Amino acid sequence: MKFSKQRELIYNYIMNSCEHLTADAIYADLKAEHPELSLGTVYRNLTQLSEIGKIKKLSLPHQVDRFDKNLEPHSHLICEVCGCVNDVHVPHTEQFLDDASKYTDALITSYQITFYGVCSKCRKDN
Ligand SMILES: [Zn+2]
Ligand SMILES: [Zn+2]
Repeated sequence: MKFSKQRELIYNYIMNSCEHLTADAIYADLKAEHPELSLGTVYRNLTQLSEIGKIKKLSLPHQVDRFDKNLEPHSHLICEVCGCVNDVHVPHTEQFLDDASKYTDALITSYQITFYGVCSKCRKDN
């Protein structure tokens, strides 16, 4: 699939960021240099990018959707002070899935854990 200019712009923006951005944040940052962009365009391109598997849409409880460049399975830590979302890589995930499958007698193929707490940056600020 051929990338449109706008989609490429948005994709590169996500790839160069280390955060889990919302459509609003991406739009707010890009529109200064690209006044032709609209929030709708940004959102549509983000949705398309996640549909073709270039990025991952991250739907967390009580949060607006964010977009993740990290396609590997991983968990997230939401800081209760600054609201940032950090990647958490927890080992032994296969064992965890096995245990969960046994416990529920289901075939569990993936999971999503969200940790809540105070991020390292906020801990240092206090
Ligand atoms: Zn924080
Ligand atoms: Zn992530």
